[in-house]
Amino acid sequence: MPIDHHQPYDDSNIFARILRGELPATKVLETEHSLALHDINPLAPVHVLVIPKGAYVSWDDFAANASEAEIADFVRAIGETARKVGAEPQGYRMLANTGKRAGQEVPHLHVHLFGGQPLGPMLA
Ligand code: C5P
Repeated sequence: MPIDHHQPYDDSNIFARILRGELPATKVLETEHSLALHDINPLAPVHVLVIPKGAYVSWDDFAANASEAEIADFVRAIGETARKVGAEPQGYRMLANTGKRAGQEVPHLHVHLFGGQPLGPMLA
């Protein structure tokens, strides 16, 4: 039995539904392969999620299986999002929970981007 973030992609997850336009989201940025949206339950003045449009369960899945174009687009989308919301140049934090054990609730890769305030050593 594979561990949770190694399960096949489940396209009923909330971000898949947002990407299909079935659920609303507050978009910050959209590129060919990525989407940034405000977190519905922000833990900092700036709390944005950046997701790839492709069906990747986790960072591990994305790193192993995404194309070079998707990876480049995603990395740049995170940087562009940080600038767009003003987290850059002030300073910000990126975080990707990978697997339930690390706190991943939604099984579609998402990078949290926190900013807008001084951040302590960890943000739970
Ligand atoms: O890393 P983790 O999977 O726990 O993060 C999921 C994030 O998705 C949470 O911060 C939660 O607030 C956010 N979320 C959201 N919109 C939803 C459901 C969850 O922004 N409709």
